[in-house]
Amino acid sequence: MKSVLVAAAHVDDPIIGAGGVIGLLSDLGYQTHVLSVCGDRSEGYEEAIANLGGTPLKFDYSYGSVEKSDRLVGMLQELFKSISPDIVFTHWSDEILIDHQIVSETVIEIARRQDVSELYLFEIPASSVNFHFDVSVDITQFYSRKVNAIKMLRGIDSTVFEREIWPSIAYTSGFRGIQVGCQYAEVFKFYGSRKPLSPYHKTLISWSDEV
Ligand SMILES: [Zn+2]
Repeated sequence: MKSVLVAAAHVDDPIIGAGGVIGLLSDLGYQTHVLSVCGDRSEGYEEAIANLGGTPLKFDYSYGSVEKSDRLVGMLQELFKSISPDIVFTHWSDEILIDHQIVSETVIEIARRQDVSELYLFEIPASSVNFHFDVSVDITQFYSRKVNAIKMLRGIDSTVFEREIWPSIAYTSGFRGIQVGCQYAEVFKFYGSRKPLSPYHKTLISWSDEV
């Protein structure tokens, strides 16, 4: 069974960036682990991730205070060792929020060192700078689960939820869907594969798939 790790800074990020894909991969039988490096503001997080079919994990950092440190690297290395992920999702590589930036850089570095087969970066509309993608996933069948999951988070300030988090789900899923030709989509920057060693492997299509 393939193992997946979705590694994010805060509890809402994995749902915004990859909630539909967490549902899809879990339904396909992948063991999908979902990490929030910050453990605060997390009421409802376990239920939300479990509702998507994922296994919720969290570290003990607080919002806004994630630091690049041996401690964080050690905790992430330990996690990688225990679940041996084949596929890893994490934050986009240029982020306004420093927590996102540090998690992205640290996870990418560890994934590279551990020869993770496939690495994908997800977008957070309120904080990803110059985001671009080359992989899309039709999440139409999982959209209502994504919506339910984000609504299960009870520890987030209601103004932040209304202004930043809810629009990131409601508008982005439909907007990306229109761009790629389905109702609701999530999009990712594929950040390379190891087997075969290729930076753009997922952008290769076979015409036979289209016939
Ligand atoms: Zn965040």
